[in-house]
Amino acid sequence: MKNILVTGGAGFIGSHLCEKLLNDGNHVICLDNFFTGSRNNVKHLMDNKEFELIRHDVVNPIILEVDQIYNLACPASPIHYQYNAIKTVKTNVIGITNMLDLADETHARILQASTSEVYGDPIIHPQKEEYWGNVNPIGLRSCYDEGKRVAETLMMNYHRQHNVDIRIIRIFNTYGPRMAENDGRVVSNFILQALKNQDITIYGDGSQTRSFCYIDDLIRGMTALMNTDGFIGPVNVGNDGEFTILELAKMVIELTGSKSKIIFKPLPSDDPCKRRPDLTLAKEKLGYSPKISIRDGLKQTITYFESTL
Ligand code: NAD
Ligand code: UDP
Repeated sequence: MKNILVTGGAGFIGSHLCEKLLNDGNHVICLDNFFTGSRNNVKHLMDNKEFELIRHDVVNPIILEVDQIYNLACPASPIHYQYNAIKTVKTNVIGITNMLDLADETHARILQASTSEVYGDPIIHPQKEEYWGNVNPIGLRSCYDEGKRVAETLMMNYHRQHNVDIRIIRIFNTYGPRMAENDGRVVSNFILQALKNQDITIYGDGSQTRSFCYIDDLIRGMTALMNTDGFIGPVNVGNDGEFTILELAKMVIELTGSKSKIIFKPLPSDDPCKRRPDLTLAKEKLGYSPKISIRDGLKQTITYFESTL
């Protein structure tokens, strides 16, 4: 049994991770400031005596006895990370510094939830880990993109200077049950709009692409990276099926049997035109490949949102 800290543990991905780590027989400390996460996401874990929930902001230091740290604390949806952009930078930069100091102190292994956003609006397609990206440092998304890039820098510097045992995962668009209803991300927006027979809002002309990973696949890849010796990443984890946003909208309408119409709204600035992970490294080092097709994953997510409405 390991003592494992999950920052951002009451969020969408964090709550699934806490559940998996408890099922694997670990003691889990879930730390969250409840900005985008909620107690509701982890209420089914509260009775487990190996589960602890702490209200704390990673911008402030904390001392805990831990063997592993998963650093997920950071709002992930554009509307939430742009709501207080300065705070998003602090969460990414000061937050990871505090967690790296904790890892240094306790000799814990630390995994940073990085993102495909480090590639920005990519010129190389699909994205391999050695691609340095195309990020606008002063744009609306930069609080998140550049924050996550500095977090990777700090991870590498603590590794080189203090020999901290690090892991960097670059997560591509992940969806599934427990995404927040007000999250604003495309999968939750489209499913909720479809279930309510409201207009489906496509930003731009819908020709931009994304590669959507079901939560269970991501959690498998993430825990595999944490528990693999001799490989620190960065490594892409996601699903390499690539779909236009228009294709996604049509699929959601079909799977929900909705009467919704598709409408088009302005594209937000710096919205990446295309995104797809090259998963060669994940396969080679972690034996990872995604197992859940977009249609199956969407069906499970639709069932979840039906139950919340
Ligand atoms: P989420 O918004 O559901 O979860 C983030 C959690 O972090 C929330 O519970 C929130 O309350 C908490 N948090 C935010 N700021 C904090 C702070 N300063 N101190 C403590 N807790 C704080 O988002 P998610 O989709 O679960 O994403 C989790 C992590 O994975 C994030 O770091 C995100 O950048 C990364 N990621 C997610 C995706 C995706 O598609 N979901 C893609 C790439 C990377
Ligand atoms: N998007 C959309 N309609 C929505 C929400 C998002 O067309 O209601 C688009 C968005 O502009 C982007 C894509 O869907 O091109 C994915 O958006 P999301 O916020 O889910 O993720 P990210 O842009 O961070 O990859």
